[in-house]
This record gives sequence, C-alpha cells and structure tokens, in this order.
Amino acid sequence: MLLDEATLRARILELGAEITRDYKGKKLLVVGVLKGSTIFMADLVRSLGPELDVQLDFVAVSSYAGKASTGTVRTLLDLRESPEGKDLLLVEDIVDTGLTLTSLTETLRAHRPASLEVCTLLDKPECRKTPFQPKYTGFKIPNEFVVGFGLDYDERYRQLPCVGVLRT
Ligand code: 5GP
Repeated sequence: MLLDEATLRARILELGAEITRDYKGKKLLVVGVLKGSTIFMADLVRSLGPELDVQLDFVAVSSYAGKASTGTVRTLLDLRESPEGKDLLLVEDIVDTGLTLTSLTETLRAHRPASLEVCTLLDKPECRKTPFQPKYTGFKIPNEFVVGFGLDYDERYRQLPCVGVLRT
C-alpha cells in the first residue's frame, strides 16, 4: 500500500484549509473530473469552510483505456453550471503526462471563469510530457500505476479506501 486512509484524509483536510484561505470572499466553482476524482472531491469539499460560497459541478473526459494513455482527450460530459465570473477549481485524481489537464484547462478557459486552478490528489511528476503544474497537490508519487480512492483499473478497485500500486 502506498497511502493509507488516515494519511489521505489528513492531507485532504490540509488542502481544504489552504483552499478555504485562498478563496475567502470569492465565488468558488469546484469541478470534479469524473470518475476518478469523486472520492477525493467528496472529502475535499467537506473540508472547505462553511463560510465559503461553493458550487459543485462535474466534467468527464476520456484519455485512458486500461493502463496505457491514448494521448487523445475527449469530452464526454460538459459543465452544467456557467463558470463565467466564478473562480473555477478543477479537481483531478492524478496528473501523469499532464495531457488531460492541459487540454481540459484550455477548453474550460473558453467558458471565461474569473480564475482557473487545479487541485490533484496525486501527481507523478516523472511522467510529465507537458509543462503543466497543478496549484494544489495532495501527494507526489513515483511512476507506478495506482488504484483505489477513486482510481480504477478497467473500472475496478475505485472503492478501496487507500491508494495502492497495482501488481499484475
Ligand atoms: P494524464 O493525461 O496526466 O497522462 O493522465 C491523467 C489521467 O490518467 C488521470 O485522470 C487518470 O484517469 C489516468 N491515470 C494516470 N495515471 C494513473 C494511475 O497510476 N492509475 C490510474 N488508475 N489512473 C491513472
């Protein structure tokens, strides 16, 4: 196991406190990238201060089939809330090559949010193929394929309460 539940939750509380400080007085639109970010997003938004003005939305993109990146990013589900004039915080499970978020942030900027930042639970900086850097990162991890806490392998293992390396 790479990250146990207590370690994950403690770090998410820290991220929530940091985001609460940074977005004080702003209109925050938290956008989860389906499906991998759902478990992280549920914990993250519950760790935001109750005084924050927060809305939630989701997008879905497809870039992976099994364990290999196809390099092609398709939008499967678009925003329902207008981000215009709001501070958009995109919540992702993991940044690997950075291709998904480079493409997705470009697409979302066209909706004219007041600002756009990314919060990722996990980051594999060794794998980057673009200069993309998330503003908020839970954990930097080595170049291994991980599952659990929302992350899947062919739609399985998302329910695991920890993050572990998949051995096949
Ligand atoms: P990127 O475009 O940065 O290469 O990949 C981002 C997406 O690839 C993530 O949202 C996730 O769906 C998938 N991904 C990248 N690395 C892993 C991994 O180690 N485990 C799992 N389950 N998905 C990964």
